[in-house]
Amino acid sequence: MKVNFGGFVPLSTVDWRGRAVCTVFLRGCPVRCDYCHNRSIQDGEDFRSIEEVISLIHTSRLLVSGVVFSGGEPTLQKAPLLALASACRKMGLAIGVQTNGVFPATLEALLERRLVDRIALDLKTRWERYDNLLKRKFVDKVQRSLLICRQAYEKGELPEFEVVITLFRGCEDEAQYIAREANGVDLVLQQGVLGTIAPLTLAEMKRVGDQLGRRVKIRTREEGEVEYEGDRSRWIARER
Ligand code: SF4
Repeated sequence: MKVNFGGFVPLSTVDWRGRAVCTVFLRGCPVRCDYCHNRSIQDGEDFRSIEEVISLIHTSRLLVSGVVFSGGEPTLQKAPLLALASACRKMGLAIGVQTNGVFPATLEALLERRLVDRIALDLKTRWERYDNLLKRKFVDKVQRSLLICRQAYEKGELPEFEVVITLFRGCEDEAQYIAREANGVDLVLQQGVLGTIAPLTLAEMKRVGDQLGRRVKIRTREEGEVEYEGDRSRWIARER
């Protein structure tokens, strides 16, 4: 079996907080986010045998306790991803997947086979804007992905699940809407970087977090990932 390969990082301490992992990038993504940092692997072809990629992962085996599949969109390649995840399981590695959620059947298959320990699901915008933003009809798929990940997480079949929002200046209000959809699961506010628009600072992102009335993780280029409890006086005010 072949996989459309996008790249390999033998050791990462940022792709799965608290774990040293290797990261496998799978090529190809049907979405075209303006802010994508991996444009070079949104399309194109670099087919490798599954065995070649497994042997790359094996070279990291002594350094890492997990593997993260990223992209591109790793769930686009269902059979190769399942084969790679299965091989990683046999190596005793924890398995993480970063996804935009447009291929729920792949997530379902990974979950059914217990081949994933952590899913980070990007939610791009509020549901009514989704298809317009992505310029394709994906909203049903992403809603399905959110549902099946949430159910697996609540049943204890998925140990770690987080929803990731990429925030841009002028679009901060998206956070409140998406946070409601992500109620009960970990929520990450990720700093968006796009062209000449000044990225939100950590302080500004904390202010967005304060309005959500819940704990969040905030990721910025400058500070990495921080856990933010928020302004609890606001929480109390909201609860009254
Ligand atoms: S979904 Fe992810 S990989 Fe695909 S274009 Fe957007 S940011 Fe890039």
